[in-house]
Amino acid sequence: PSTAPHLGNSIASRDIASLLHPYTNLKAHESVGPMVITGGRGVTVVDDAGREYIEGVAGLWCTSLGFDEPRLVEAAVRQLRTLPFYHAFAHKSHEPGIELAEKLVALAPVPMSKAFFACSGSEANDTAVKLVWYYNNALGRPQKKKIIGRIKAYHGVTVASASLTGLPNNHRDFDLPIDRILHTDCPHWYRFHEEGEDEEAFASRLAASLEALIQREGPETVAAFIAEPVMGAGGVIVPPRTYFEKVQAVLRKYDVLLIADEVICGFGRTGAMFGSETFGLKPDIMTMAKALTSAYMPLSAVLVSEPIYRACVTESEKIGVFGHGYTYSGHPVSCAVALETLKIYEERDLVAHARTVGARLQEALGRFRSHPLVGEVRGVGLIAGVELVADKATRQPFDPKLGVAARLAGFAQGHGVILRPIGDTLGFSPPLIITPEEVDELVARFGRALDDTT
Ligand code: PLP
Repeated sequence: PSTAPHLGNSIASRDIASLLHPYTNLKAHESVGPMVITGGRGVTVVDDAGREYIEGVAGLWCTSLGFDEPRLVEAAVRQLRTLPFYHAFAHKSHEPGIELAEKLVALAPVPMSKAFFACSGSEANDTAVKLVWYYNNALGRPQKKKIIGRIKAYHGVTVASASLTGLPNNHRDFDLPIDRILHTDCPHWYRFHEEGEDEEAFASRLAASLEALIQREGPETVAAFIAEPVMGAGGVIVPPRTYFEKVQAVLRKYDVLLIADEVICGFGRTGAMFGSETFGLKPDIMTMAKALTSAYMPLSAVLVSEPIYRACVTESEKIGVFGHGYTYSGHPVSCAVALETLKIYEERDLVAHARTVGARLQEALGRFRSHPLVGEVRGVGLIAGVELVADKATRQPFDPKLGVAARLAGFAQGHGVILRPIGDTLGFSPPLIITPEEVDELVARFGRALDDTT
């Protein structure tokens, strides 16, 4: 029986009666009901009332090739017909997994040794945590286990990944974070700089704060630091100039590994193949997902450096097995879709396209800087955030109870564009295939929604 009688026996009431929605205010959902999406074409999706929307966030920052790329469908069907499932446990293997591992190792912006597969970004980051612990056990440093994430970072929702995530709603009442996970400052210059502090001085202060944390904890207990090149789900936070250079100097000094979480930034989003290239990261471990398959099939990957792989070999020889892996580690259908996705990126030079069309998006959104509601417009490549403020001069945020960005996102939906409200920020991350004309249309619709909000 529906808890929303006014919706009758509609698809909405069936949804309310049966579906536990991720990332939703469940109480509100019981009266509001769902927005049911039934199809998509190019950068747009359609709801069950036939209304069309530009998907300004590519679903969840993921459908890089839009919503109807036939080659991905064909790749999946071909693989389903040939070999719908096989695994890689205990010396078994299959060609799509091998070919994709080769391809990712070759694409990595720093020398990487091996690729491990999972299904989601969360699982990839959980794997990274376990590998760091395994590595330090292999090296005979059982006390070097702490991993440092950052306030406002997003790394997923499994127990370890949610602990790495630096957002209160992912911890609160889930009894997280687990121990051995720490958080350092959020590199958001606009929000957190001190009076008179420029980006470089801010970056120096954050690097010093990271160093102080490592010293306080004891460098012999700190194993790794994890970072998204651009923080996505925490509000599209682009690092200030010199930040990663300074942070990496600290990590090298204390023999702390760097994990680059490329789940959003990977595969062109920042205008280079990886965000690590855009911001000069030299990671020991990289995690990636989402645009790896344009989200047509679930797949994530963890790339590890040779020293980490060697440590895994040592440990697995000692124990008798590398005791980690998922049933769907390297699902052949997902791997086949990923290979086709990567081929399309190459053939259409979509990374260069993201750079060009991304510049247009940043420029167009930049025009809202003078708008009375807009505090900051930030972004790089095809990812952007527009932060609303109650007072431009003082950067005073709105009362969170007002839900201003959520209201704006509601108006935007009314104008036919889906955006992501994150606190007071609207997130933009359209499919990489978006055309210049579609960028203009997306921004025009956003502008109308902003006027509605004023
Ligand atoms: N890491 C980053 C940077 C993400 O943005 C996300 C998801 O948005 C994740 C990890 C978690 O990925 P998943 O939702 O596939 O578990």
